[in-house]
Amino acid sequence: MALERDTNGTACIGGTPLESILTDAGAVTPAYVYDLDAIVAGARDVVRAAGGKHIVAYAVKANTAGSIVRAVAAEGMGADLVSGGELEVALACGVPVEKIFISGVAKTDAELDRSIAAGVRAIQAESVEEIDRIAARAAAQGRTANVSLRVNPAVMIDSHAHIATGHDKAKFGIAIADLDAAWWRVDANESVNAVGVSTHVGSMLADTDPYVASGTKVCEVAKARLAAGGALQFVDFGGGYGIDLGEGAVSTPADFVEASVALKNRHGLDALTLVVEPGRSIVGSHGMVVARVLQTKASGERRWAMIDAGMNDVLRPALYGARHRIESLAQAPCGKEWRVVGPVCESADDFGDFNLGETAPEMVVIRDTGAYGFSMASEYNGRALPAEIFVSGGRVVGYSPSPGASEWARRRLNA
Ligand code: PLP
Repeated sequence: MALERDTNGTACIGGTPLESILTDAGAVTPAYVYDLDAIVAGARDVVRAAGGKHIVAYAVKANTAGSIVRAVAAEGMGADLVSGGELEVALACGVPVEKIFISGVAKTDAELDRSIAAGVRAIQAESVEEIDRIAARAAAQGRTANVSLRVNPAVMIDSHAHIATGHDKAKFGIAIADLDAAWWRVDANESVNAVGVSTHVGSMLADTDPYVASGTKVCEVAKARLAAGGALQFVDFGGGYGIDLGEGAVSTPADFVEASVALKNRHGLDALTLVVEPGRSIVGSHGMVVARVLQTKASGERRWAMIDAGMNDVLRPALYGARHRIESLAQAPCGKEWRVVGPVCESADDFGDFNLGETAPEMVVIRDTGAYGFSMASEYNGRALPAEIFVSGGRVVGYSPSPGASEWARRRLNA
């Protein structure tokens, strides 16, 4: 875990107190702080578990910061991408094109054109109709586009409804019943080449069972395609590995990858490459938000601590009801319970109850926010995006400042 406590109980990364990290960077709160060493160590473990032949494609949507994408690319990771912006970041960070996968139910023509021109490993077709569009864009360039069929495996997982993507009411992927039509479209179009079968069943999986269930569907689809005389390069089981938010350990990324390799080989698909697309599990536990308590209020039995990070900085609690542990920077959880809320004018801007001590601390840390934290942040309520600080060896090695209120206002005045 990236967050540690020294002998005085002070919250640290790599032995350096978080507060000093902010001072060294010259950052004001709220600020995201990432432990690059922990990210690299986790990336190394999962790439090692996959072995040389297989591809661990980091789901860049979890955190698009160049410092992070460069670090995981250097460990041999590929990238799973959902926009033209993410594609530019991945290419500029040195992710090899043969390890790049383009997902998304509604890709723009410009995104398809750039992906085809760059020669990515596969564009994941999420509907039968999309296959014709990809083919037309490729034909216009005089090229052939590599596609994989993203299958909707009709597997429901035990996660929040908004992060369950593989059930039959979800917008994602091609239904099993529509696969014959999809293969027919692929075979009828000379400008597309089917290279894989993929899926993504959802996020925050605590154990490998649902992942193996959806991976089994992918293997069955791939086997049927091969038996019908088609050629394939890979099967892709998606991402979704959960992280421990303080409620108990979950299966590790290496557990998921090892179960996937074993599953694929049990199905006699040894010759195919395995692709997996973890996002959250690569960065979630290794990033956190440092915030300041701006105001307290006592009313009846309840003690409120109003902090300067809000739902615009950390959206997951408001969007998914997620509980991210909030702790004092000065001491481990103890003492009285405080209801921690942000400054945004929404009742949903509420992080929950946490033991912050007898008196409210000056500063707090919102834990496990490395994934879907900054990447989901917004400027709602006229609040500039927060700063990001990258730490290695206990030292600040990268800093992306907040634009601040004046710059935010300048841009809005020009709108
Ligand atoms: N792959 C696809 C297609 C996704 O939609 C997502 C997340 O939404 C991921 C991978 C990454 O999931 P996670 O961050 O839970 O590993």
